[in-house]
Amino acid sequence: MIDSKTLVFINSDIILFPNSEIHFEISSTYEKELFNIVENTTQQVLLVNAYDNSTFPDITMLPNIGVLANITLLMDMPNKKTKVNLVGVRRVNIYNYNIDNDSKYYANYSEIDNQKIVDDHYKSILIKGLEKYVNKVPYMSNAVMNKIELVDNITDLTDLIISFLPFGIDKKKKYIVETDSYKRCTMLLTDMNDDIKYVELEEKIERQVEREMDEVQKEYYLREKINVIQKELGDDSGKDSEVTRLRKKLDKLKCSQNIKKRIELELNRYEKTPSTSPELALIRDYLDWMFNLPWNTYTKDNNNFNDVMTSLDKTHFGLNNVKERILEYLAVRQQTNNLKSPIICLVGPPGIGKTTLALSIAKALNRKTAKISVGGINDEAEIVGHRRTYVGANPGRIIAGLKKAGSSNPIFIIDEIDKMRKDMRGDPASSLLEVLDPSQNVHFSDHYIEEEYDLSKIMFIATANYIEQIPYELRDRLEIIEVPSYTEYEKFDICKNYIIPKALDNANITLFDVQFTDNAIMSIIRHYTKEAGVRELERKINSIIRKIVKKLITNKNVVRYEINDNLVEELLGKKKYIYNEIDTEKRIGVVNGMAYTAFGGDILPIEATYYKGKGNLILTGSLGEVMKESAHIAYSYIKANAKEFGIDMKLINDNDIHIHVPEGAVNKDGPSAGTCLTTVLISLLTKKEVKSNISMTGEMTLSGKILPIGGVREKVIGSHRAKIKTIYLPEENKNDLEEIDEKILKDIDFILVDNYKKIYNKIFK
Ligand code: ADP
Repeated sequence: MIDSKTLVFINSDIILFPNSEIHFEISSTYEKELFNIVENTTQQVLLVNAYDNSTFPDITMLPNIGVLANITLLMDMPNKKTKVNLVGVRRVNIYNYNIDNDSKYYANYSEIDNQKIVDDHYKSILIKGLEKYVNKVPYMSNAVMNKIELVDNITDLTDLIISFLPFGIDKKKKYIVETDSYKRCTMLLTDMNDDIKYVELEEKIERQVEREMDEVQKEYYLREKINVIQKELGDDSGKDSEVTRLRKKLDKLKCSQNIKKRIELELNRYEKTPSTSPELALIRDYLDWMFNLPWNTYTKDNNNFNDVMTSLDKTHFGLNNVKERILEYLAVRQQTNNLKSPIICLVGPPGIGKTTLALSIAKALNRKTAKISVGGINDEAEIVGHRRTYVGANPGRIIAGLKKAGSSNPIFIIDEIDKMRKDMRGDPASSLLEVLDPSQNVHFSDHYIEEEYDLSKIMFIATANYIEQIPYELRDRLEIIEVPSYTEYEKFDICKNYIIPKALDNANITLFDVQFTDNAIMSIIRHYTKEAGVRELERKINSIIRKIVKKLITNKNVVRYEINDNLVEELLGKKKYIYNEIDTEKRIGVVNGMAYTAFGGDILPIEATYYKGKGNLILTGSLGEVMKESAHIAYSYIKANAKEFGIDMKLINDNDIHIHVPEGAVNKDGPSAGTCLTTVLISLLTKKEVKSNISMTGEMTLSGKILPIGGVREKVIGSHRAKIKTIYLPEENKNDLEEIDEKILKDIDFILVDNYKKIYNKIFK
């Protein structure tokens, strides 16, 4: 085998197969020099296809197969470029590349077996494949067919065919480096076949689109034809008989003359609109709403208040104050027949029975109910509907609620009135105000319905979690009734007397089949739920009962189950909330604050530390502005009284103090952490311990005066759950303790304070 060395022309996009010819232009000095050398020496150059297009590629990245080419033309052109003509000779095997001082690449190569393979069988398969390809693929020229006649071997035939095929450069490079003629044959057949399949798929899609177009035209044509035939026969179409039916229905509709006129008008439009018009469905939708809205359909109230009280007692345990206030409200409303009375708004944490109370009132009064939630809405169209010109228009939630209720005077529950948002799409709260305001709601007009609807006979009941978050303009119209969160003992009674019987009833079993021990109930409340209301508790009880029902069915030997502590753990898994007795622990720089959260109340340990610095105060824990202010007040207060509290001012001046209120699902704003923040700072700076079974709440002024705060009941219940033994409360919150269960009052020592010095004396002196 002869080894040779030759100059290399490296290129990433000029592809030359043996026996074919290529012309191209070069412009760089480097290339011109290269081809001048070629022309003046051997007249042969080795064409190598690099994988990328850098001018001086790394030789380790170059392929080991190239195509030896004869230069047949090198001509300078008037545009300063040089035209080159190359004819491919054969593939060679490159085993070494080197670069000379002029950055010219040379290759040592050896010949590969270039024997021409004659195989008629393969040749005919290839030609058939090619014929199919030329026929199918629109962008393929059939000039190749004349040339292949002259080639008898598949070695050259494959190269010839590929050089004609509209394959991409990358694909062609694979054929350059493939030296096995048979492999090139199979590659070619596969690649051509893929292209043919692709073209066939395209054709199929095109045919389908065409067919669908035809279908639409056909349908249109048939419809028109039906119309003409029906007209000729004098036959009422389905639509016409529907219009007749609706006209009869309209006669019986209890609506006002105005509404009747409007419906009549729309019916006429409906009649005249061709069945092919897209507008037809929109008019039909509108008519549907108008026919199905309750017009002047009233239920008669049951005015017997004893029934109402009985109904409320039957569905809801306790809540005596709330029930009393509801009855008073109903009595005044009935007595004065004053529709302008404010709207009830039940406020309190989730799961304490607000919505179900409203439903219970409706049932007792014999009214239908409508219920919507306005939580999260930021678009007034949700309340008053979209205009009919709007695509996909619909009435707002008020009209939709009425349609569902089926009467014009239902109890209309509006949930989550505190969770509406205002943005550029409008202010839903002001639209809701129009709905609730008796002086305006007689003439309420939904944008979609476009006609007035009298909302004044509706009894609205709203619910909310936080009073402060109810939009101000609405708050003014509402009679707020606060529904408090439950103590463990109340939850126990609710569970035993309401939730369990209801759950047994739903599962169609009785107390004879399943009985809960008192300890088990308490354990579920304490260790498997953490909430202000009883929703989670209800879920847990239902889950236990479902599991027991399954046991009763699968294990017929046991006829009765007693649910005790152990069985609860078996059915519900490990205890989720565990409250340890913490009274022995004492800590420096950590004090329990008291928070009012969605779960009712909770303790909120506030911690502080210090390190070398310049007397800065650093606050972390996503605190609100008011809480940050409280921290600064506490900081100033202890600085002002440093001497009295035994705090070394040097410690303050030479250090930075960092206060952190740990994360958690707690709304951390409001002034009530004042006393707690002060205590944390004193404990930190005097290194005096504070017991961990103490909690405190109270706003503080710069002079140390303690001001009252809200949410006492919830906060106390939360602290009780956390096994707190002593609570420091503002003196002015004394009356709030009256609302608290005796059993809790017995467990906790309350210390009422009006000035911080009293707390200091108790804890640190
Ligand atoms: P809210 O509207 O306050 O979120 P729900 O009215 O939906 O709460 O009440 C949640 C569940 O708790 C309901 O199944 C309800 O029957 C039950 N529930 C709440 N409070 C009581 C109560 N005092 N007595 C009996 N069941 C109650």
